[in-house]
Amino acid sequence: ELSKDPHTTLITATAPVAANTHGGRAKCLQRLVRLDLPVPRTVALSFDTVHRIAEGEMPDIAEILSQFPENALLCVRPSSEDPDWGGPGAILNIGMNDARYVDFCEALGAEAAAALYLRFVQSYAVHVARLDPDEFEHVADDGPEALSEILHAYEMETDEAFPQDPAEHLAAVLRSMARAWEGTSARLLRQAKGAPADAGLGLVVQEMIPGVGQGECGSGVLQLVDPTTGVPKIVGRYLSQSQGRDALGAGASALYLETDDRGPALQDLAPKAFDDLKAHAALMRTKLREEMQVEFVIESGRVHILDGVRVARASRAALRIAVSLAQDGIISPQEAVMRIDPHAVSELLHRQVDPEAPRDVIGTGIAASPGAATGRLVFTSAEAQASASRREPCILVRRETSPEDIRGMHAAAGVLTERGGMTSHAAVIGRGLGLPCIVGASSMVFNSKTKKVTAPDGRVFAAGDVVTIDGSSGQVLAGEPPMLEAALDDAFQTLMGWADAERDIGIRANADTPADAQTARNFNAQGIGLCRTEHMFFDPGRLTVMREMIFAQTSNGRQAVLARLLPMQRDDFVQLFRIMQGQPVCIRLFDPPLHEFLPGTRGGQRELAEALDIPVSDVTRRVEEMKEYNPMLGLRGVRLGVTVPEIYDMQARAIFEATLEASHDGDPVVPEVMIPLVSARREVELVKTRIDAVAAAVKSERGLDFDYRLGVMVETPRAALRAAEIAPHTAFLSFGTNDLTQMTYGLSRDDAGRFMSDYVNQGVFPEDPFHVLDTEGVGELLQLGAERAREANPDLTLSICGEHGGNPESIAFCRQTQFDYVSCSPFRVPVARLAAAQLAI
Ligand code: PEP
Ligand code: MG
Repeated sequence: ELSKDPHTTLITATAPVAANTHGGRAKCLQRLVRLDLPVPRTVALSFDTVHRIAEGEMPDIAEILSQFPENALLCVRPSSEDPDWGGPGAILNIGMNDARYVDFCEALGAEAAAALYLRFVQSYAVHVARLDPDEFEHVADDGPEALSEILHAYEMETDEAFPQDPAEHLAAVLRSMARAWEGTSARLLRQAKGAPADAGLGLVVQEMIPGVGQGECGSGVLQLVDPTTGVPKIVGRYLSQSQGRDALGAGASALYLETDDRGPALQDLAPKAFDDLKAHAALMRTKLREEMQVEFVIESGRVHILDGVRVARASRAALRIAVSLAQDGIISPQEAVMRIDPHAVSELLHRQVDPEAPRDVIGTGIAASPGAATGRLVFTSAEAQASASRREPCILVRRETSPEDIRGMHAAAGVLTERGGMTSHAAVIGRGLGLPCIVGASSMVFNSKTKKVTAPDGRVFAAGDVVTIDGSSGQVLAGEPPMLEAALDDAFQTLMGWADAERDIGIRANADTPADAQTARNFNAQGIGLCRTEHMFFDPGRLTVMREMIFAQTSNGRQAVLARLLPMQRDDFVQLFRIMQGQPVCIRLFDPPLHEFLPGTRGGQRELAEALDIPVSDVTRRVEEMKEYNPMLGLRGVRLGVTVPEIYDMQARAIFEATLEASHDGDPVVPEVMIPLVSARREVELVKTRIDAVAAAVKSERGLDFDYRLGVMVETPRAALRAAEIAPHTAFLSFGTNDLTQMTYGLSRDDAGRFMSDYVNQGVFPEDPFHVLDTEGVGELLQLGAERAREANPDLTLSICGEHGGNPESIAFCRQTQFDYVSCSPFRVPVARLAAAQLAI
């Protein structure tokens, strides 16, 4: 049933209508027609036709009109390829003129007829004739008097009577909508939403079902799920004697779909129509394989379906909707997995700011650890702890954090720092704890003396003021917006189960403490890929012992402190092994950038002097002596292992003794021991010899045997380049892409946050390379290292354990490079599991 002009197509079940030629709305309407739903007659105009209209070439209007009953009113709606790209607003009641007004007065009464005509004249005046909206949009009422006033105003403004020819109406409306799409502001707007520069607009011309008249008439929208939670629920609005989107308008005294204490309902006014609507929506869900919002009109108690659009939804609703579609057999589990954006999953694991709520943004920084938290501003760790003891949530504000702030971080609801980047202390710890965190918020001015933060707009927030940090977006908000709780419900677990069935790369967690390990297990991580042992000493009691060890000047003194650390470490490892229940646990030997462990302030130095029972001046002198110009490139990692080998000896002994203890009452544990910051083969040889010796000693002391795997962290460019000579000595290589990125770019991971946004905004870096793996540069080193290492030792296990391990784009690269697993912060494990599954489907 094609019209003569192939570019204006009556929508039938078989008409050639496609989303990429006629737009999403036209395509959807055709689907509804195929389902035999009561859709008014509709003609679709292709992108090409609309483009030609904009250029001045009109299709055959008489031909279009001939598709509709004589005297029908029409409406025209936009139909862009992706509905999100928008388009000009719909124009209703096209064809309304004086003669039809008289007919409608008879049929519907003067009030209803005037309302229909008035609406058309208003939109025509503003959108087609482009007259001043102030003159035409606001009228006191919509009765016959207002109508004659507005027709008069039209004549005064244009020196012509309002046009009466329906064909002229339609042509003018089509032309104005086609041109609106080509306008610069419309183009910019849709490009911001991801539309290509040459995105086309289709238009649909539809027979108007007025929504006003005798019996129950009106219009509204309905959907079968809650848009925030995705839970089945009938949601929508309906307004008697209304058209278009009137039922959604602010101030419209809408009737509700179902009767409740807010007012009367469609259910009572037109019970048959209500039941039909629900059935239509359910059919659309099954056949279109998606939760749809139905746009409908009731005409004398009968339903017409004008359109269906994909239900707008929050992340948690998206997940529940996908799972329930798959559970109902409408889509496959794989498709449900594919429909969820892995980035959105992290929102579900944390509280979040209600996406619907207004936001009073007072600053932005790097979104370092997701989730949102509200609390009073505090400026020291001690205040954070005091606040926690009063059960008063607080946001800890620091220039940057150090191990001294750990207790404060534990006590705080969220952390905000002036400096730092994705891999600085606050960010790494925040993610580990699942604590919302924003770092590098350099758009705000911090004053730790006066305890004030100044927003870019000049507003000042002092200690005690309530703010919210949104660690998912990097926004700092004034006050307390409404929040949504974490949603680790059945739907989440089900989807994750489906994802795991598809995934072909392992996912481990970076976990330093029993609490981290427990989180990792809860999220079904397949082991621990990185336990940063120095983080086990952030606890204030232990921090002092750790510092004592760092301060010890003689080997004997150091041995004495190490003897105290040994049982602590052994207990830590026993706990980790037990929690992980036979899954691999990769323990990294000490890698303390020493500056992170020394007391930076006078107060801190005094406390340490007290603890060590030595004069403050000794502490100060020692801190001075140990000061490094470039601590990140100084005495850390294996360099400490080579120069002060007793530390690694102690740790190896703690690991092996814990192995025997944990194997005693469970599956045999095979610990993985990892050497950090290697750059030369000889470093590995030296450390390996000593660790093997410790293993032999423990075995012979206990008369028991165990296995262990020794591995190397590739964090320096040289280690990647020389992987072939390192690999034969090791069972695994794990790429530490935090340091490797830092060293490849020569870019300080602790300072880059200050200028990263400038770099990204100006397109120097496509993304923060500490956040998304630089597959070109750092990635080339990864590839080279992996290739060379595999050639030298084909049995080698390869992985990454930098923060990139939780980033979906970076995981894709690791999978391509055939790594065995990625390891990321525990809270990012579900994100990684989903992202990895999508890559395999
Ligand atoms: C790394 O450098 O990528 C790494 C995992 O180690 P850390 O972040 O502890 O330096
Ligand atoms: Mg490192």
